[in-house]
Amino acid sequence: MTPGRKKLIVGNWKMNLSVHEASLYLHKLSDKIPVRRDVEVVLAPTLLALQPLSLQVNRRQFKLAVQNFYWRDHGAYTGEVSAAQLHSIADYAIIGHSERRHTFHESEKDIRSKVQAAVRNRIKPILCIGETASERSYGETNDVLRDQLTSGLANLTSDDLETLVIAYEPVWAIGTGDNANPSDVHGAVKVIRNELKHLYGTKATEAVRVLYGGSVKSSSAADYLAVKGVDGLLVGGASLDSHAFTEIVTKAHESTTEAKT
Ligand code: PEP
Repeated sequence: MTPGRKKLIVGNWKMNLSVHEASLYLHKLSDKIPVRRDVEVVLAPTLLALQPLSLQVNRRQFKLAVQNFYWRDHGAYTGEVSAAQLHSIADYAIIGHSERRHTFHESEKDIRSKVQAAVRNRIKPILCIGETASERSYGETNDVLRDQLTSGLANLTSDDLETLVIAYEPVWAIGTGDNANPSDVHGAVKVIRNELKHLYGTKATEAVRVLYGGSVKSSSAADYLAVKGVDGLLVGGASLDSHAFTEIVTKAHESTTEAKT
């Protein structure tokens, strides 16, 4: 593990679990996953469950992330929730997830504005970037990653980078069971770190954590956590299985203890 960068495991529950089920599931995870100094665990329930879970959660054990929000702070935006309203409820915000980019047609401008809104309201952004299957087949992965990074971070200063998390999530690997090869992840993470250095310099970039996400299972977690430059995982489907998710968190802990020996 790179000194100063704590491992990070994020569970994205997507549009699953009722408020009651989410509360029971949090209770179950609390019994299974111990507080560890070397691994930070973040849970991203649906918006509806976020506020009640914020009252239930032990923040030493789990942090909470919002899956989506609108980038303006207040105003006549019926049906929307802002980062200003989420301040002190959500610790992190998932931004630019491929399901938001592709199913809800979020633009690069929306994503950039959300990153800025999160930072403005002291919520840590988890910016998701990644290529589609067709971009991959045309050999465009590295260009896509650089473009999405440059665009998503356009409004940030190097001071803002301290709380930033980047999730490399190849679109073709999300929810498909078709996960990326660790050596490809290594290549992508290298491109991401080099681009961050190019944009902000080596020192500012050191604090940024880079995650892999895409059909991670308890059986594949260790392989990704062993990739140089990977600081953790963004987990969708497997985060809804308490046994699998607990195993993934354990693998993250083991990866830091192995790194120390
Ligand atoms: C995700 O939701 O970001 C994700 C990676 O999902 P899954 O693990 O199900 O592919």
